[in-house]
Amino acid sequence: MIKKRIAILGSTGSIGTQTLAVVREHAALFEIEVLTAGSNAELLIAQAKEFSPKAVVITDERKYELVKASLKSLEIAVYGGQEALSEVVQREHVDVVLTALVGFVGLKPTMSAIKAGKDVALANKETLVVAGELIMDLAKKHDVKILPVDSEHSAIFQCLVGESNNPIEKIYLTASGGPFRGKDIAYLSTITKKEALKHPNWIMGQKITIDSASLMNKGLEVIEAKWLFNLQVEQIDVVVHPQSIVHSLVQFEDGSLKAQMGLPDMKLPIQYALSYPERLPSNFERFDFLQYPNLSFERPDMDTFANLALAFASIKKGGNMPCILNAANEVAVAAFLNDQIGFVEMSVVIGETLEKIPFIDSPTLDDYLAIDEAGRVCAKELVTKK
Ligand code: NDP
Ligand code: MG
Repeated sequence: MIKKRIAILGSTGSIGTQTLAVVREHAALFEIEVLTAGSNAELLIAQAKEFSPKAVVITDERKYELVKASLKSLEIAVYGGQEALSEVVQREHVDVVLTALVGFVGLKPTMSAIKAGKDVALANKETLVVAGELIMDLAKKHDVKILPVDSEHSAIFQCLVGESNNPIEKIYLTASGGPFRGKDIAYLSTITKKEALKHPNWIMGQKITIDSASLMNKGLEVIEAKWLFNLQVEQIDVVVHPQSIVHSLVQFEDGSLKAQMGLPDMKLPIQYALSYPERLPSNFERFDFLQYPNLSFERPDMDTFANLALAFASIKKGGNMPCILNAANEVAVAAFLNDQIGFVEMSVVIGETLEKIPFIDSPTLDDYLAIDEAGRVCAKELVTKK
């Protein structure tokens, strides 16, 4: 494999740090060009000292001087502020941009990377949820690859290797069901953020952990899959699989099902996105069948976990609906983490925001930026009334 030079957006987060763990294991194959953080200056500085990138960004401008001073003896360009993300991804020596920012903030830098002809290893699913059609069209136009990092989408992507002439009949996205699988609304309305932040199978950033507990994560992934694999919504099914061993499945025209399996460890899909089309050796823990005598599957409960139903409805309607869904969800999750609303109220805020913002059929980038803003304002108002 030719050495790949990587920019990591969000290197201090859960996906970012696991990406650096993969890079550490394959130092001869991967080189870090760019690292970025929101406000965790201490970790960014430590990462920069270890990986010697050419540039770093700290978007929280209050931390800029600290980062600059700490790295002054090294040949590292230091930038501050949000706009810098869209600039550093365009650097000449970057081959692939791994987007591990959380939320809508990933949209602009991802578009900027694509426009500069950089391949994108995409963890930041919200970008595709908000503007999937725009992103996929842009990637086609600039002939860049969008390589999925999300484990379910990586599974589908791996199942599709060698199948380019074979149409997909449907895909099954697996979901662990989260910590509240099998519970009813009465139970959900009593749960605390501490309980919601405990995922049974994965350790992740706070936002996606809450999204997993509410099944919004699976809803966002349905939308992400539609755009990544050019599917109709009707071709996407969600199946709850509590063990998180089967990471997702593709069903072909002859009825054959292909699945990708393994222990839940994000380093594997991260590594595959970075090494694609090759596979690299790894020391990740191996699967032991005897530890898993039973793999089980069940239907998701979309009446109780209304977020999944809201996500399906919004992508069926299309246009600006998924963008509104995402904006309202980001506000609702932040409000839940801030103890302003309860767990079940998150779905109420999202549902009401979807009803209040006018529908637009084919939004432009400017429309998306305005819709995101309007969605947030509306959802915040609803939060204060709860
Ligand atoms: P984290 O919250 O752990 O990390 C987010 C990263 O983005 C951090 O580096 C953070 O910096 C930075 N960041 C946050 N807000 C901003 C901002 N406004 N501007 C610039 N940088 C910012 O998230 P995860 O790693 O869990 O998730 C990242 C993405 O990957 C999400 O879209 C998630 O859905 C997706 N994903 C995550 C998985 C996981 O296992 N974690 C699995 C599959 C997908 P700082 O540390 O300084 O705050
Ligand atoms: Mg996932």
